[in-house]
Amino acid sequence: MLTLRGITKDYVSGSMRVSALRGVDLEFGENEFAAILGPSGCGKTTLLNIIGGLDRYTEGDLLIGGKSTKEFREKEWNTYRNHSVGFVFQSYNLIPHQTALANVELALTLAGVSREERRKRAVEALERVGLHDQLKKKPNEMSGGQMQRVAIARALVNDPEILLADEPTGALDSETSIQVMEILQEIARDRLVIMVTHNPELAETYATRIIKLLDGRVISDTASGQTRPRRARHGEESIKKPSMSLRTALSLSLNNLLTKKGRTILTAFAGSIGIIGIALILSLSNGVNNYIDKVQRDVLSSYPITIEAESMDIEESLNALLKNTEGNEQQREEGMAYSNSTMTKALSSWMSGVTKNDLHAFKKWLEDPATDIKKYMSGIQYDYATPLVVYRTDLETPMQVNPSTALEAAGMFSTMGMTASGVQETMLESVESSINVFGMLLDNEELLESQYDVLVGRMPQDKFEVVVIMDSNNELSDMTLYTLGLKDQSELEGVFPRLMRGEPIDSQDTSYSFDTLMGMEFRLMINTDYYMKKNNLWTDQRNDEAYMAAKLAEAPVLKVVGIARVSEDTVAAATASGGGIGYRRDLMDYVLREVQNSEIVREQMANPTVNVFTGYEFSEKPQDALDRLKDMEVSEFITLMEEEGMIPKGMIPDGLKPLITKELMMEFIDQGTLMIQGTSLEANLKALGVSNPMAIIEYLNRDPAEDSDREERDNPLEYPTEFPSSIKIYALDFEAKNAITDKISEYNRRMNETGQEEKVIHYTDYVGLLMDSVTTIVNSITYVLIAFVAISLVVSSIMIGIITYISVLERTKEIGILRAIGASRRDISRVFNAETLIIGFTAGIIGIGVTLLLVVIMNLILHNMLGIRNLASLPALAALILVGISMLLTLIAGLIPSRIAARKDPVVALRTE
Ligand code: ADP
Ligand code: MG
Repeated sequence: MLTLRGITKDYVSGSMRVSALRGVDLEFGENEFAAILGPSGCGKTTLLNIIGGLDRYTEGDLLIGGKSTKEFREKEWNTYRNHSVGFVFQSYNLIPHQTALANVELALTLAGVSREERRKRAVEALERVGLHDQLKKKPNEMSGGQMQRVAIARALVNDPEILLADEPTGALDSETSIQVMEILQEIARDRLVIMVTHNPELAETYATRIIKLLDGRVISDTASGQTRPRRARHGEESIKKPSMSLRTALSLSLNNLLTKKGRTILTAFAGSIGIIGIALILSLSNGVNNYIDKVQRDVLSSYPITIEAESMDIEESLNALLKNTEGNEQQREEGMAYSNSTMTKALSSWMSGVTKNDLHAFKKWLEDPATDIKKYMSGIQYDYATPLVVYRTDLETPMQVNPSTALEAAGMFSTMGMTASGVQETMLESVESSINVFGMLLDNEELLESQYDVLVGRMPQDKFEVVVIMDSNNELSDMTLYTLGLKDQSELEGVFPRLMRGEPIDSQDTSYSFDTLMGMEFRLMINTDYYMKKNNLWTDQRNDEAYMAAKLAEAPVLKVVGIARVSEDTVAAATASGGGIGYRRDLMDYVLREVQNSEIVREQMANPTVNVFTGYEFSEKPQDALDRLKDMEVSEFITLMEEEGMIPKGMIPDGLKPLITKELMMEFIDQGTLMIQGTSLEANLKALGVSNPMAIIEYLNRDPAEDSDREERDNPLEYPTEFPSSIKIYALDFEAKNAITDKISEYNRRMNETGQEEKVIHYTDYVGLLMDSVTTIVNSITYVLIAFVAISLVVSSIMIGIITYISVLERTKEIGILRAIGASRRDISRVFNAETLIIGFTAGIIGIGVTLLLVVIMNLILHNMLGIRNLASLPALAALILVGISMLLTLIAGLIPSRIAARKDPVVALRTE
């Protein structure tokens, strides 16, 4: 069975060399009860450990079943220990945090025996040592004899061929010693039992053979040579490599952790602080991003995508302003200041950043059924540059109500010091367009219904019918009231200058009956009606009261047919937030045609090179005019300029004219005090209220033969409505908005691909742009914060590593026991990895739990502060990932301690108390 040939064992510690065994030759049969006797330190334990495969011999050979172990690898020793050897120690060496049953089962677990089989055999083994009623007890609840019997049961449960007992009765009183010896004697009936003892009497009584050891040598052996027949064993046919399942490792570690709950929870809590930090930041930023998203959804989708025929690319000029430092890496000399051209660049990109959109082609595309874009829209609105000129005629004097004159009355434009320079002209235009109190209703009856609550009367059904629109609080802004003449505009006189001086303005809130509102009488003027032909030239008759009265008398009446209120969830109100008057699209169509077909416009079109107001040819370049000053008297020049419309009439008072010298005139012009404007067909048509002068000029200049696929509606003279100056597309919802912008991008791509670059559509989604940058800011703040908190995560991981290391030190004995019953190094590191995994998991769960709690508190505070409900929320996926990260970090932190544990020499580990 076992043969020892010249076994020696030297321990080297430092420079000392201890020879524990000095050549032992022994042979053991299959069932003997051998007792090894000898004084302390003679090498008994060393011999037993070598026989049991716990320790390695220095020289000689150990033959197991006739097979040399010289070439044995770690794996084979593990299998040998697990399947063929059972150990019983003087100090029992039970795992303190496991029950008797679990201690016994452990060896079977390593052997890979199934659960029920394990349970059955463990119970059998415990019954065999008389402990069938102590299964659930933990070692510290048992007497020494009971513990030693559990240890014997554990040694037997694998049904090993060899049982090694190192002073099994050393710590027991004589009575329990006898019990244990009887059990061992019983066991020795069908296997080899080798027992080390101090007690010669017990050895004499129970052992079949006595080997005496002295100073590492056998000095006597009563080997009889008699062997009993070999008995049948179970499980021999399937000797497997022992290995611990993750489950066993987890349950071992979990039980161990449960014995020190307080410490485990504290550790996990400390580990969770980093997780809490990150989870909180994530919940907040996730919440804020969700909120932004919701705002986008709720609000942004109600902001239409607006595409202007002419628009300024704000983005580009902003970039020019903001990115001025880029590429400015020139070498600078110390002690010198240098200039850069930020403003010039920004201004020039502002001026050149005006992009033109071919809205006619785009409108055709939008309306093409093949485009299939209508399904994403809740509405679409085409606007035209043609002003809707409306007067109120039921007041003492007729009053222009649209476009609004209220700001002029308040002295705003004079305060702003308007000159006709390009920049300010654009500003003026945008201000003017925003003060239209007349707004076009959506061209979609169904949607219209849902946008307004009609309070009195009905919505307009004819082009000459209009409706008063109030905001959701039944209010009209003072701006609207002044504009409509409901408040007296004379009150506004000098308001702006006073505001500029910081003086308070008092305004009273007033109310109006619906009858007052319904009773307002509006008349529609066509912009071109202002002009009358005198002496073959057209003049503006706006200030001629008699003329205006006559014109207004024959102008069509716009009848107020109802009062409506913007309903709560209105997406596209016709008027600005302050309320106003809503009119139907037909009205604009009518005005467009009237302007287009007016005599003055037709005359101007018939003579595209001659200015109908002056009879002179258009002169677009002010410089050309300036050249004429060289050979002309100043007064002559001024008159000429005035006639040609290049200097507004009356700008230079007649009395001054003779006093101006040529030099002074040049200086005025140079300084910009006097502006010489160019004149052009386009400017004239614009002034007359033609919505699309560019398109018309282009149409007239183009040779009809050239574009063969010209359609009827491509003619701006006949179809002015086909040439909007801006298009507003209202999306159904946020997704639809994206779908629409995708469609437009697709359109642009196709235009680029087919060489029609001029049809590419440019527009800026301002609110989306803004929200994007807010999201970017929130994200970058989040990343910075997470980076900070991640440091605490690393710190807590290191701490967990240290605590795991302490645990390794504490569990050294357990490591030895596990190794003695056949656990491999991998199994040991697995146990500790399982432990760190459990701590990491607990830390993660605690972290998430605490975070969820804090999120509730945070939300309460945020709700109080900002009025936003449930702002912070932790996404489930992030929670999962954080738990995962926590487990991963603690696992990494525990790798080194678990390695240390696995490297422990089992013999040293067992000797540790
Ligand atoms: P016994 O069990 O007979 O009392 P041991 O086998 O434990 O004796 O020890 C035999 C000798 O080997 C003793 O002198 C002991 O000091 C020495 N020894 C045992 N283990 C080690 C070790 N790990 N390092 C150094 N010397 C050791
Ligand atoms: Mg000993």
